[in-house]
Amino acid sequence: MAPIKTKAIVLKKHNFRETSVILSLYTEETGKIKGVLKGVRIEKSKIPPLTFTPGALISASIYIKRTSELNLISSPSILKFYEMPCKKNLMAWRLILNLVDLFTPEKEIDRDIFHLLKNTGEVLSKCSNSEIILIAFKLKFIKILGYGIELSRCVVCRNKSHTYLFSGKLGGLICNNCKSRDIKRVNISKRVINIMKQLEKMEIKRCPVIKSIPVDIMHKINFYSNITLNYHSGIDKIWWTDEKNIL
Ligand SMILES: [Zn+2]
Repeated sequence: MAPIKTKAIVLKKHNFRETSVILSLYTEETGKIKGVLKGVRIEKSKIPPLTFTPGALISASIYIKRTSELNLISSPSILKFYEMPCKKNLMAWRLILNLVDLFTPEKEIDRDIFHLLKNTGEVLSKCSNSEIILIAFKLKFIKILGYGIELSRCVVCRNKSHTYLFSGKLGGLICNNCKSRDIKRVNISKRVINIMKQLEKMEIKRCPVIKSIPVDIMHKINFYSNITLNYHSGIDKIWWTDEKNIL
């Protein structure tokens, strides 16, 4: 089968056998792909290690295997490595790479995810508000995945209301009449809803203009995003109480 030549962002790397690595890539042409890149862990390798380091934007050829065999990655070259200015940005970037690895199905093309990821890497390599970029990324990612988040009306009856609750399971706001549809619903304030709407609308590349959001509101938005993601994760443990769990 002819290889697919594509740009990709390296999401994860595991050493494999003596000299190879297994990579999880988010590719522009074919979505998430896991595959083996052979012979790169030898001294004479002409491929610099940054090429297969999580976070790198590369160009590569992918040989897709039909059976359970591993896909093959070949002739990778580095296009850009998003160097993070500090540890906080690096943590946010790693978390984002892991979220994409965890929540996207294999071999399902979605260029919106590829571009969101690439733009987020660029923004994080320059910005000083990595927490805001992280939650803005989550809101946009959740939207692309189709998990929500409905922020302008009740997700069940579609009516507008003066006050709402929030359901991670249903992916958005629920009104008082529909609250029995999710026993794990939580409170949400108008102020938080408005900030979430703004973040969701704003392109990730513009988000560095937001200099600060009060910490308590940031925590809440992060929480609402996480309970929405968690409902779809199929992971039993509550990984989001300590996000390092998925690193
Ligand atoms: Zn309702």
